[in-house]
Amino acid sequence: MLDGLNPQQREAVIHHGSPLLIVAGAGSGKTRVLTHRIAYLLAERKVHPGEILAITFTNKAAREMKERIDKLVGPRSKAMWVMTFHSACMRILRREAKRLGFPSSFSIYDQADSQRLMAMVCREMELDPKRYPPRSFSAQVSNFKNELIDYETAIDRAGSHLEKTLAQAYKAYQLKLTEAGAMDFDDIIMNTVTLFQLFPEVAEHYRMRFRHVLVDEYQDTNHAQYILIRELVGHPELRTADGDVVRPGADQSELCVVGDADQSIYAFRGATIRNILEFERDYPDARTILLEQNYRSTQNILAAANAVISRNESRKPKNLWSDQGDGPKLVGYVADNEHDEAMFVAQEVDRLSDEEGVKAGEVAVFYRTNAASRVFEEIFIRTGLPYKVVGGVRFYERKEVKDLLAYLRVLANPADVVSMRRILNVPKRGIGDRAEAMIEALSSRERISFWDALRRADEAYGMATRSLNAVREFVALIEELIAKGAGMPPSALAEEVLVATGYRAELEASEDPQDESRLENLNELVSVASEFEEANPEGTLVEFLEQVSLVADADQIPDTDGGQGVVTLMTLHTAKGLEFPVVFLTAMEDGVFPHIRSLGEPKELEEERRLAYVGITRAQKRLYITRAAVRSSWGAPSFNPASRFVSEVPGQLIDWRTDPEKSAWSAATSRAPAARPAPAKSGGRTVPTLTPGDRVTHDAFGLGTVVSVDGVAEKTKVKIDFGSGGEKTLLLAYAPLEKL
Ligand code: ATP
Ligand code: MG
Repeated sequence: MLDGLNPQQREAVIHHGSPLLIVAGAGSGKTRVLTHRIAYLLAERKVHPGEILAITFTNKAAREMKERIDKLVGPRSKAMWVMTFHSACMRILRREAKRLGFPSSFSIYDQADSQRLMAMVCREMELDPKRYPPRSFSAQVSNFKNELIDYETAIDRAGSHLEKTLAQAYKAYQLKLTEAGAMDFDDIIMNTVTLFQLFPEVAEHYRMRFRHVLVDEYQDTNHAQYILIRELVGHPELRTADGDVVRPGADQSELCVVGDADQSIYAFRGATIRNILEFERDYPDARTILLEQNYRSTQNILAAANAVISRNESRKPKNLWSDQGDGPKLVGYVADNEHDEAMFVAQEVDRLSDEEGVKAGEVAVFYRTNAASRVFEEIFIRTGLPYKVVGGVRFYERKEVKDLLAYLRVLANPADVVSMRRILNVPKRGIGDRAEAMIEALSSRERISFWDALRRADEAYGMATRSLNAVREFVALIEELIAKGAGMPPSALAEEVLVATGYRAELEASEDPQDESRLENLNELVSVASEFEEANPEGTLVEFLEQVSLVADADQIPDTDGGQGVVTLMTLHTAKGLEFPVVFLTAMEDGVFPHIRSLGEPKELEEERRLAYVGITRAQKRLYITRAAVRSSWGAPSFNPASRFVSEVPGQLIDWRTDPEKSAWSAATSRAPAARPAPAKSGGRTVPTLTPGDRVTHDAFGLGTVVSVDGVAEKTKVKIDFGSGGEKTLLLAYAPLEKL
C-alpha cells in the first residue's frame, strides 16, 4: 500500500485522526495519495468499505479511482461511495426526499430545463426580456444557491428594484420547481445541506455511516459544498471569546481533502479558495502536508508552467520540481488561420506516430471554448485521424434524445411540468399553443398541477372539441404507458414509448436524412438503457434517469483499449486532473485565451492564467503551443495578438517552427493562399436555404425567426431573433440550424 510513494505521500496515507489538508502543485500525486489512502484504510486500519465516501470531480474520475481500488482490495470496494458531489447528494436525497416534501421519484432539471422554467416565470411576471434576461436570472439564482441563500433571505436582502424583481422571480421559480416535484442541479447540493441542518438525526446517521470522507480537487468546491462537507463530518465545539458555546461539537469523521489553489478554475460557478483558508479556521487541529515533487512532466514543461503561474499575484509560491530530465523543448507554431492550425496538429500527430511510435490515444488537443472543436473535427475527418470530442454538442442535448427522456421523466413523475409541456404536442397531435394556454389557465384557476388540469381538460374554458379530444387521447396514452411501465425495464419502456407515440414511425417514414441520424440517436439511448440494466439488474426507471442526468462531460473520454486509441479533443476545463504524453494547446491568442471577457479584469485574468497552468501541466512529454494569425469568429476575420501566456514562457524553452511574430499581413504575403474554408455542409448537416420570416431551430439557442439574410455562399450571414435568447447573427454554413 505504501510502495511507490515518497515520504510526504506516505505520511498523508497513514495520517490518523485529525482533518488532513494536502495542498500541492499539479502532478504531485494528490489523487494517487487519495487512492492509496483508501486502500490503506481498508487493509491496515480495517475500515469497512461502506464507511468510506470519496468525492471526485467527474464520474470518469470516480470510475478510475474505483478501478484502482478494485485492483488493490477486490470486489469489497463495491460498498464504497466513490462519486461526485451531485451523485452522492442525489443518493441521499432519494432516501430522504419525503422529509423535505418531495416525492422520492423527484425529477432533476438540467441547465436547459431550469432556464426554460425561469423563462416561464419571467413571462408570467410579464418582465421585459431585454431588461430582465431570463438567462441572467437563472445564473444569479444559481449563484444564490451556491452561497446557500434561499429566496426568503434573497427577498429580505434585496435593495434595488432589480434585486427585488430577481428575488421575486427566484421565489416563483422555486415554488414552480416544488410543484413539479423537481430539483435543479444546485438544489441537489443545497437541499442536502438543508436536510442535514433541519434534521440533525439524519446528519448524524450519515456521519456514523461515513467515518472517512475524502475530497479530490478541493479548490473547486463552492461554499454550499464546503458546508455540506462540514455538516457531514461534524465539527468541533465553537465558543466565543467569553467561552459561550456557539455551536456544540460533534463526533467527527476523518476528513482528508486534496487540492491546488493554482488550479482553481471554477470561480464562475462559485468555487472559492476561501474554502482552503476557512478549512484551517474551522478545523483548528487540521494537519497540512505539502507535496513538492512532480511525477508527471519533464522539467521543460514544468518550468513553463511555473513561469506562467508565477505571474499571478496573491499566491503562495511553490517549489515544484521534477527529476524526469529536461525532455524536448516546447514546440511553437503560428498558423495562417485556424484551418492551417488544425492541419499542423494533424500532420504532427502523424509524424510523431511514424517517427516515435506515439499512439493517437496518447494525444490531446485543448481549446478554450467548445465551438473551437469544429475545425479540428473537419480536418481530422479529412485526414482520417481518429478522434473523439469530449463535451461539445452533447448527445443528451439533442432534441430527440431530450424528447424521449422527457417522456420517461413524465412516466416516472407526471407532475414534472417542464417535461410534460415539452412532449404535449410531440409528435404533433393537434394540441396547439392555444389549447396549452387554456390548460395552463385551468391549472392556475383551480390550483391544480398541469397534469391534473390535462385530466380535467373538459373544465377548461373555450377549448375546441378537436383540441379536447386530442388532450383526452394524450392523457389516455400517458396513463396507459404508466400502467404498462410498472415493472418494465427502462429500455423496454423507452421502446414502448417510441412505438406507442408514433415517434419512431414518423422518423422512419421521413425522407429527410437528418431523421435517420435522429433514429440512430434514439436507438443509442435505448442501448444506454440496456447497458444500465446489465450493470444494475434491479435498476428502476428513476435510477436510470438519475444516472443520465448526472453524466458529466468527461464521461465521454474513450477508454484506451490497448490499441492505437483516438485523439482526444476537449476544452481546458474538462482536462482537469487528466494527463497525456502529448498535448496541443491551441488558439493561444489574446482575446481567445485569455478570453476576451477577462482582458480588463485582473481577477478574471488570474483565473485564465490558472487555466493555462492546468493546460500546460497536463502534458507529460511533449507540449505544443499554437495560434492562428487570422481566425474567423462569428463569420468575420479577427486578428488576435499572441496570447500573453505564451510570452510569459521563457523564450529558450520554446522551439519555434514558424516566425513567432507572424502576423496576418506577413502570412498573406509570404505564403500561398490560406487553406480553403470548410465546405458548406458541416457535420453531415445540409445547409438550409432561408428567407426572412422562416422559423428555425438552433441546437443551442432554440426556436427563432429569421430576420435577415446577407452575403453569398460561405459568407452568408443570417440574423435570427431567438425571442428571449435575443437576436444573433450567425454564419449560415456553420450554424447548427434547421428550418422548420
Ligand atoms: P493534478 O493536480 O493534475 O490533479 P495530482 O497531484 O492529482 O495532479 P496524480 O495524478 O496523482 O497527481 O499523479 C500524477 C502522476 O504521477 C501520475 O501518473 C501518478 O501515477 C504519478 N505519481 C504520483 N506519485 C508518484 C510516485 N511517488 N512515484 C511514481 N509516480 C508517481
Ligand atoms: Mg489529481
